[in-house]
Amino acid sequence: MNRDTALLAGKEYDLLVIGGGVYGAFAAWDAVLRGLKVALVEKGDFAAGTSANSLKIAHGGLRYLQNADIARTRESAREQGIFLSIAPHLVHPLRCLIPTEGFLTRSRCAMACAFGIYGAVKPGGHVQASARAVLPPCRIISGKECRTILGSAAKPSITGGAVWGEGLVQNTERFVLSILRSAASIGLVAANYIEAKRFLLRERRVFGIEAVDRLTGDRFEIRARCTLNATGPWAHHILRQVTGRNPEETPPLLKAIDLIVGRTLFDGYAVGLQSRPTGDGSASKDRGRLYFFVPWRGTTMIGTYYAPYRGAPESASVEEKDIEEFLDGIRGILPEGAITAEDIRFLHFGLLPMNMTTDRSGVASPAGKPWFCDHARIDGIEGLVSIQGVKYTTSRVVAERTVDHISNKIGARKTPCRTGTTAIFGEAGSERGDPAEKENPGNIPDAVRRHLEINYGSESSRILGYAVARPELARTVTGSQEVLRAELVHGIREEMAQSLGDLVFRRTDLGTAGHPGRESLDDCAGIAAGELGWDAQRISRELEKVERSYPGTAILPARQINTVTEPWS
Ligand SMILES: Cc1cc2nc3c(=O)[nH]c(=O)nc-3n(C[C@H](O)[C@H](O)[C@H](O)COP(=O)(O)OP(=O)(O)OC[C@H]3O[C@@H](n4cnc5c(N)ncnc54)[C@H](O)[C@@H]3O)c2cc1C
Repeated sequence: MNRDTALLAGKEYDLLVIGGGVYGAFAAWDAVLRGLKVALVEKGDFAAGTSANSLKIAHGGLRYLQNADIARTRESAREQGIFLSIAPHLVHPLRCLIPTEGFLTRSRCAMACAFGIYGAVKPGGHVQASARAVLPPCRIISGKECRTILGSAAKPSITGGAVWGEGLVQNTERFVLSILRSAASIGLVAANYIEAKRFLLRERRVFGIEAVDRLTGDRFEIRARCTLNATGPWAHHILRQVTGRNPEETPPLLKAIDLIVGRTLFDGYAVGLQSRPTGDGSASKDRGRLYFFVPWRGTTMIGTYYAPYRGAPESASVEEKDIEEFLDGIRGILPEGAITAEDIRFLHFGLLPMNMTTDRSGVASPAGKPWFCDHARIDGIEGLVSIQGVKYTTSRVVAERTVDHISNKIGARKTPCRTGTTAIFGEAGSERGDPAEKENPGNIPDAVRRHLEINYGSESSRILGYAVARPELARTVTGSQEVLRAELVHGIREEMAQSLGDLVFRRTDLGTAGHPGRESLDDCAGIAAGELGWDAQRISRELEKVERSYPGTAILPARQINTVTEPWS
């Protein structure tokens, strides 16, 4: 996948997608699979926005049964099955547990009933069957078993536990890259660091964008029969230029934050626990929220904390108040001192559309439904469609409906969507068995080869090819047990990595669970400098930018917060 802006400038496409998050990537992949001529531009790096900052759960929709929303449950379960089947190298089964208590909605009886209904409504067709990884079955466990799993977090009132399976997207950034690489292999023209500056508008019809290349400053036009605004939290902001709406009319957003704690808290399970009141009568906004503790790469992701946000997406940041409230919420779950600021290695932070009924309950929550808009219908502007999703899990099906609409709109040949049945780039890797049993010309440790197969699937062999050709690339990055130096060269030559941040946050997973150590960053910067011709000044600028993604606060010691300023700044 190469960055060639000459293929964009002055050309006309059937569809131009703005935004390289999971929604934009799926829409582009869907449209090229249907034979459309498609381009995609991303103002930062691919997947550097909300899509990098998820709790990584491909939800099966069990929770929507609480509101008797059968349609949403079915849709989520189907999409979860599709994720497991199109990207088995990246999406793995995750065992989940919620303790049961009382006689109401969280009781053993209520959860057993919910499992019964879930089994009956979730699709059991080809999708589930084709997923090679089988999810653990739904079952109710005893109070004793549940207490053993929860340890000191078990409340005396626990009567048992509800256990079920979800999908865990091990690397949400590489999932997006895999979709883009699939699409690029059959004709998508995609480029990162290209910003849509302005819509090209004539007689109330959008016919493309004026773009700026953020690496060179070049400005050029990209024309398209239809332009899709898939800019996530920016969706309403970017539209103001064509709709003329005031900033006050822009729907509010929600800050969403997950904490990464440097150890596994509940072995083998993602556990959902509700924060309880302080007991001293003091009202805390974050009590009453259900938090999930998700085991991931030897750490635990805890989420999700929400807080309303008004303002431009690029100005959003994690504030001390957010961390204080988050930690207070956790104090209502775990025994005092179980998690302190020192345990926090990192934060994943993004913005989501907000549920407008939030204020009544007092607890902010994300919007329940994706937003879709054909601006011809709403604003009388032709050639422009917007989508803003609320879940990573349902991005594929929302993109499918959007491309159905667009194909119809531009009079394209009727072709069914194939993203639900077509494996994405790297998928074949998951069938290749235990790395220890395979040929290993570069003598790469098994742990490294396993790490490669999870992140790259069948593309691992390509990375190993770099390692075999250049023995200095067959070593892991200084300070890392798993990340191969060859991954950096592969990321630059084959996946458009342009900066040190692209390499440590999105091509490799070196920096996504906490600061990897200065020696690691120096090593990566040295390799990138060799590939990209950086001088000493550029190297120190790149290092500084990455370090700024880990600022400290008065609450958290230095180097622990990722406010995701790096890709957006
Ligand atoms: C903390 C957190 C936890 C979450 N956990 C889960 C979970 O466990 N499961 C789940 O299903 N969902 C989860 N979500 C929700 C999910 O991550 C989002 O719904 C999804 O990633 C949104 O994707 P997107 O493509 O719409 O937005 P984004 O990923 O933000 O992509 C939009 C892109 O548009 C680009 N862009 C903006 N303006 C321009 C422009 N002018 N020109 C070019 N490009 C532009 C941006 O740079 C950005 O990369 C979570 C979200 C957060 C924040």
